Amino acid sequence: MINPSLSYPVQLALRASAIGTACVHAGDGRDPSSGALETPLVLSSAFGFASAEEAAAAFRGEGDAYIYGRWGNPTVEALEAKLAALEGTEAACATASGMAAVSGSILTICESGSHIVAPRSMYAETARLFRERLPRLGITTTFVDASDTAAYAAAIRPETRVLYIETPSNPTLRVSDIEAIVGLAKGKGLFTIADNTFATPFAQTPHALGVDVVVHSMTKSLGGHGDAIGGVVCGRKPDVARIAETIVKGFGGVLSPFTAFLIARGIRTFALRQRQACESAAAIAARLTEHPAIARVHHPALPTHPQHALACRQMHAFGSLLSFEVKDDNALARGRRVLEAVRIITHAVSLGDVRSLLVHPASTTHSTMPPDDRVRADIHDGLLRLSVGIEPLEDLWADLKQALVA
Ligand SMILES: *Cc1c(COP(=O)(O)O)cnc(C)c1O
Repeated sequence: MINPSLSYPVQLALRASAIGTACVHAGDGRDPSSGALETPLVLSSAFGFASAEEAAAAFRGEGDAYIYGRWGNPTVEALEAKLAALEGTEAACATASGMAAVSGSILTICESGSHIVAPRSMYAETARLFRERLPRLGITTTFVDASDTAAYAAAIRPETRVLYIETPSNPTLRVSDIEAIVGLAKGKGLFTIADNTFATPFAQTPHALGVDVVVHSMTKSLGGHGDAIGGVVCGRKPDVARIAETIVKGFGGVLSPFTAFLIARGIRTFALRQRQACESAAAIAARLTEHPAIARVHHPALPTHPQHALACRQMHAFGSLLSFEVKDDNALARGRRVLEAVRIITHAVSLGDVRSLLVHPASTTHSTMPPDDRVRADIHDGLLRLSVGIEPLEDLWADLKQALVA
């Protein structure tokens, strides 16, 4: 919840202190054999048994001995404990990538004949999964305007199994009413899955609002350094165990311990990075609304954002992403000129990095989206998406300002 009677920087400081200790310490323990403070990087595909009885017990699922790296690894488990602490869930299961978390959750919950209701504007690869790959397995999806809860309700059919949530949306930052969608699901025994990559657990904790399973691409803000690909599924113990059996053990989407080590290291500074990035994002969004070269700005912190009040109710912060439309008769060409003129801001996909990253969705990340859907999702030719990093605000603003008049 964002309290409008406090300044935004104060709100961000409070949120950082609420989760900062968990970022640094959750999942850690002093290594009993060496005394190492840092979680040891255990690179072993198999683990030895002390006795025949211990081996037999391990295979009966008794005790906590490690057996094989696809079934469990101490470095990966330490990272999972960190994520469960940050999302406030009983359990978490790390996966090879964000897409392994998304696809694995769906393939665990759904079967041939199942139906999903999902936002029209989603992470592009998730949209392709729902549009092109799942139908081959007999799993179909109805796409709706995710900021319209009535549209979710109207799309539910007898064979619906999952209400899928991704808020704020990519790239226009529309906000879905998580509690209202959960309410629809609870009434009909449906499963809810929320992709919380965009908001991050700094800005939003969907499980606390009733969502069954929260998925993430840890590649983005959690890892935060643009050096590791990973995903995670967070939720109640039985749900996470069932999904882990499917994705990790069965389909083999296991996270490498080395990657787990890098991401856990990244998360130690997660609260600090988010505090800075969210503050800069809101400031840049506010300044862009005054800029003569800009037609529109999308960011939930703006009082003009269509779901600003909802964002204040359900989020802890407004996030580090924003998008804006450049004004021009040839918006596409103007957008490209901005991309080519930035010097500190990096022209690259991905998001949540320590570096600020700028993309042009219509020609890149959302180019595979059917043009009609793109227009309906408000993704215009002149739209640019900025993921704000931790560079000083004034350096970012100076860079953006010179690029907008280039
Ligand atoms: C990046 C991303 C994914 C996919 O994650 P990978 O780690 O690249 O597989 C899924 N959802 C969202 C919202 C993302 O930004």
